[in-house]
Formats: sequence, structure tokens, C-alpha cells
Amino acid sequence: MTRPAILLVGGTDSSGGAGLAADIRAAAAHGVEARLAVTAVTAQTNGMVGTVAPMPPALVAEQIAFALADGRVFAVKIGMLAEAAIVAAVAEALAGFAGPIVLDPVIAASSGGMLLSEEGITGLIERLLPMTTLVTPNLPELSILASRADGRLAAGDPAPVSQTGLRGKTEAGPHSHATPRDAALVRNLFAAGAGAVLVKGGHETGTEALDVLHRRDGGPPRRFATPRLDAMLRGTGCMLATAIACRLAAGNGLETACGAAKEYVRGLLAGASAEPG
Ligand code: PLP
Repeated sequence: MTRPAILLVGGTDSSGGAGLAADIRAAAAHGVEARLAVTAVTAQTNGMVGTVAPMPPALVAEQIAFALADGRVFAVKIGMLAEAAIVAAVAEALAGFAGPIVLDPVIAASSGGMLLSEEGITGLIERLLPMTTLVTPNLPELSILASRADGRLAAGDPAPVSQTGLRGKTEAGPHSHATPRDAALVRNLFAAGAGAVLVKGGHETGTEALDVLHRRDGGPPRRFATPRLDAMLRGTGCMLATAIACRLAAGNGLETACGAAKEYVRGLLAGASAEPG
């Protein structure tokens, strides 16, 4: 039987904590071969983003075309995209890909540095959301994408993203998951074409880390709760989305893939919190 491979589209992080290095670790842990399309090289520490150097869009497109050429890529995970021209190149290069596409809508690093331009956010909504099987926003990303998608649908003039709005914990309160407000925001992503939406509550406060899967075909949202662990680990969003893509490549359904991926990340966090500080 052909061993499945996945394609990881994203940026590098010089600290090694997030981005493609984290994605490759997650794919290796699932026994899945990883192919790469590098969108940007970043100089980062855990506390700051320095230079962000986007790759030429044609080079990103060529990496994707070559990675897909032998037909062994069963799923694609997309992370950092840096700018609108790369978003467009990725959308075009993936246009003929028939397998699942998981989009982690990376807008900023947890240090606050921006990893996607304003035009890139608009491009992501217009070009990539309609191609996704699943999009995995955290709560700040959900609110930015939903308001932009809504503004676009209403032909409004969206406010620019502030870095502080994306940094650190959100203050939405202990029961802010799958609230009517979240459900309304998720509906905006569905209106923009998203296949399914996994809202990640990992940056929230409270005793549970709760992720909620919303499906396009309706039905009650599926909740995935794990006890909140007091661990600082970067790249958890990258690894969660990659783990989901690996599971989808292996033929798992969306709910099974999300549940297993959440469990995988919980294990990583448990390991990190057990390390001597
Ligand atoms: N750097 C790159 C290249 C990424 O792809 C990501 C992905 O989310 C990040 C940084 C952000 O990671 P973190 O939220 O752990 O800072």
C-alpha cells in the first residue's frame, strides 16, 4: 500500500518552537512523511519576531506543484502565509488538489509580531477559506476573520488588526466557548466558504482547554475538553493542525481526527509541564 504523505505549507521559525519545525515533529510522531513548501523565513525568539522574509510566490507555487506531482500527498496543512501574493500563489497551486486541506489561519506569533499582512488576511478569506476542509482559528483569529468576512460580505471597511489584540490570553470569560457570539462568528466563516471550523480555546483562562468543532452541515457543535495544563509550549496550534491533517490523510473522519490530535497536543503539554523549569 502507498504510504501517505502530507504537504506542509508554512514558514520557518529560527527558535524552532513553531512553524515548519513543529509541523515536521508532529508529522514524524504520526509516522507520516512530510513534504514542504516554505512560504517565509522568519528570525524569531520566543519573545519577539525580527525579520520576516517572504519567499517569491512563484517559488512557493513550484514547491507545491513538485510536492504534489507523484500523487502521494493525501492531505495538506497550511500555516503561515506572510502576504497576499503568497496566499494567491498557494490557492492557485492547490486548485486541482482533491484531498483534505487544513488551514491554521496564522496571523501573529504569540509574542505579538505579525506573520500575515492586512491584504493577506483579506486574501486568505477570499481565496483560501472556500478551499478548506477545516480551519482552526483561536478566539482572536476567529473574531478577526469573522469580522473581515462579514465586512467583505457587507462591502464594509474593516478596521485594521492591532497587534495587542492578538497577544496573550483573551479575556472572554470562562464560558466563552460555543457561545451564541462564537456561533455567529463561525457562521460568517461558513458564509465565506469554510468547510468546518475548529475554534481553539487554548489561550483562554479557566480550568479547561476547550476546542469546539462546528460543521457546515449543522448539528450541535462537538466539544473537545482537556484539563488546562500550566505549560508554556510554542507551536501547539501548528502541531494540532498538522496532527489533524495526518489523521485525515490516514482516512479518519473529522471528529476522530480532531479528538486524536487534541489528545496528542495534550500529551506534549503534559510532557512540557513535567520538565524542570
Ligand atoms: N512562527 C511561525 C513561522 C508560525 O508558523 C507560527 C504558527 O502559528 C508561529 C510563529 C506562531 O507560533 P506561536 O503562537 O507558538 O508563537
